[in-house]
Amino acid sequence: MIISGKELSAKLKAEMAAQVAGFPEKYGRVPHLTVILVGDDPASVSYVTGKAKASEVIGIKNTTIRKPATIAEDELLALIRQLNADDTVDGILVQLPLPKHISEARVIETIDKSKDVDGFHPLNVAALWQKQPCTLPCTPKGIIKMLKAAGVEISGKRAVVIGRSNIVGLPVAKLLLDENATVTIAHSRTKDLPALTRQAEILVVAIGRPRFVTADMVSEGTVVIDVGVNRDPETGKLCGDVDFAAIEPKASVITPVPGGVGPMTICCLMENTIECFLNSVRDKNL
Ligand code: NAP
Repeated sequence: MIISGKELSAKLKAEMAAQVAGFPEKYGRVPHLTVILVGDDPASVSYVTGKAKASEVIGIKNTTIRKPATIAEDELLALIRQLNADDTVDGILVQLPLPKHISEARVIETIDKSKDVDGFHPLNVAALWQKQPCTLPCTPKGIIKMLKAAGVEISGKRAVVIGRSNIVGLPVAKLLLDENATVTIAHSRTKDLPALTRQAEILVVAIGRPRFVTADMVSEGTVVIDVGVNRDPETGKLCGDVDFAAIEPKASVITPVPGGVGPMTICCLMENTIECFLNSVRDKNL
């Protein structure tokens, strides 16, 4: 069974569009997402364009602010503070990665926690690990939604997550743990990775290496979630971290690249923007 993130996200976006359509009457406005794009890296431009398109489909107001790669860190932080203070802005997202002279950590912690639609702010991360209300990071949230939509029982399963980044690996592992899976996190120093991955009932791969996971690393019936987004060195086309053609016949459930986790990430960004909007209007008692 191939889980199409494209189809699931289209369904969820239609539901959100119906919800947002009622907001002007109820709250006097629609949610507003502001995306800051620094420089003109083609992948970042494409991600930002995808976010603007999804906003349009749902009826969320999207403002994209483009700044040159030479922008000083202080100027970028001042812009974020200005958006933090703007009551008409519900979500702020700074597209990563940033040029080397800008500290991503400082940028992330400058975004007001209540407008941190990516769920990267240290207070959101801390709240996630303490099981407090928080904005969940989009990719891990999307993965759990996909598993549930596919009817995968997570509780009690042996899950292996390859990758331990703050953006994907660690929060995915935490969300799987919260769903009562028994989770092992693997990384570049893990010894005998294939022996570990063959034990997985749910395997999440977030490495960033084309077709790194081969068929011999996966047991029959495994649920395989491929987070990787890479360029195939031979064809130049997008591909995942998993050798899809070889593993699909063995997996009980698998996500494709493209059209798997990626669309769900954007879908969850939209959901987070709506959540931030609703928290804001409720706080103002509108
Ligand atoms: P990252 O920060 O570079 O982390 C990569 C992780 O992979 C690290 O934890 C690293 O281990 C581990 N790793 C590298 N080589 C390994 C090996 N040979 N064996 C085992 N583990 C290894 O990357 P990321 O930000 O998590 O992203 C991972 C991939 O997901 C990328 O392709 C990225 O483009 C993609 N991504 C997709 C979406 C989406 O929406 N679809 C969203 C975010 C990211 P160490 O910690 O030991 O270095």
